[in-house]
Amino acid sequence: MSDFDVIVTGAGPAGLAAACLLALDGRRVALVARTPGDQSDPRTVALMQPSIRLLMHLGLWPGQLKAETQPLRKLRLVDDTGSLFKAPTITFDPAELGEDAFGWNFPLGLLIPALSQRAAELGVQMTGADAATAQSSSDGVSVTTAAGQRIEAQVALAADGRNSLLRDAAGIRTNRWSYDQSALVTSFDHTGTHDGISTEYHKGAGPFTTVPMPGDRSSLVWMERPARAAELMALSDQELGAEIQIGTHGELGRISNLGPRRLFPMQGLVARDFAKNRIILIGEAAHVVPPIGAQGLNMSLRDAAQAADLMEGEADPGNADILNRYDALRRRDVQPRQQVIDMMNRSLLSGFLALETGRAAGMALLAQFGPLRRAVMTYGLAPSGGLPRVMRAPAPEPPVLLA
Ligand SMILES: Cc1cc2nc3c(=O)[nH]c(=O)nc-3n(C[C@H](O)[C@H](O)[C@H](O)COP(=O)(O)OP(=O)(O)OC[C@H]3O[C@@H](n4cnc5c(N)ncnc54)[C@H](O)[C@@H]3O)c2cc1C
Repeated sequence: MSDFDVIVTGAGPAGLAAACLLALDGRRVALVARTPGDQSDPRTVALMQPSIRLLMHLGLWPGQLKAETQPLRKLRLVDDTGSLFKAPTITFDPAELGEDAFGWNFPLGLLIPALSQRAAELGVQMTGADAATAQSSSDGVSVTTAAGQRIEAQVALAADGRNSLLRDAAGIRTNRWSYDQSALVTSFDHTGTHDGISTEYHKGAGPFTTVPMPGDRSSLVWMERPARAAELMALSDQELGAEIQIGTHGELGRISNLGPRRLFPMQGLVARDFAKNRIILIGEAAHVVPPIGAQGLNMSLRDAAQAADLMEGEADPGNADILNRYDALRRRDVQPRQQVIDMMNRSLLSGFLALETGRAAGMALLAQFGPLRRAVMTYGLAPSGGLPRVMRAPAPEPPVLLA
């Protein structure tokens, strides 16, 4: 008999969350990874209410994390394409859904250590070395680490990122594509206030998005053509700050104190199967999307929670029925969402008048019609087919009947 029920590969946010969820359910979990993720990552991630409920289930929320993150009070979409048909600005307000925030903005450099510490507290066994080889058979999965340790379990969750070794071991193929864009990520102080509002300026080379952080500080995801992005990376802090000020039309005041910056080439990926041969794909091993509408990690946490739901109480957590159900449920959430994000991104890049007009007309409809806006907000927060157990909102208290 193996020492473990489940192997998780990859200590990014998706793998760490999955390992914690399964350990909480009483599973013996081996986390195969060199280090607990990349803590120098300058990105922040906007996690929506369902993901916050998952963190609450793990005992990580509110606590210290809440004190160091920023609530997202509103989301604004601004047509900044300079197109002939300028769309009206849309403001999404969670009050229309009865919430006071869509979610919270987390520095990844804060989230990853918090998840990693929780995994250790829950008894997750960390190997301290990456997976070097993996095999799956009808009975189970075996992984050998770069340090030569061999681990076996009935099932493996592959959270080892977009070039997943475990995905290859399962024989799962992918569809991949790239966009003619890179995202420059940094953060900065500003003299104006953000009022908890995240603004996505839709420009000709893609979205330029500011996301509020605690105090008078915001993070930035600036999607640009690769050559222009490389030019921006070579600027001094003062020069880049001036460019950001132009990009925000001065709406946040004067920009200073820039944080570390990094470029992310924009790619898309979707696995042709989400689970096969006792291996379940989680996070970017299964799907990669451009950072539009804060969907990537929110989807990945739904992967982790869905896998934990399906395995709960099962004697064989890698049986074919669980894998088939996971594949169907996650495909239904991920694929349409990925198509919407792809369409939004390409409509900015195309430069075709017909597409620009269509996008402007869509934004005008959203700005005008409350029910449509509410439907889009609801879909942005959660899939229409429902959420895994730990991400659901608590049922409202029954009314107290007075005698
Ligand atoms: C600019 C930008 C902004 C974003 N903003 C948001 C946002 O606001 N909201 C949101 O929801 N999402 C956002 N995302 C998406 C989000 O950051 C990703 O979905 C998320 O970080 C992916 O997590 P992951 O754990 O799946 O993958 P990764 O973070 O890539 O983790 C994979 C891990 O596997 C490890 N690994 C690789 N090979 C092996 C191996 N052989 N053995 C063991 N381990 C291995 C790697 O070292 C790594 O630690 C953004 C993405 C970008 C690019």
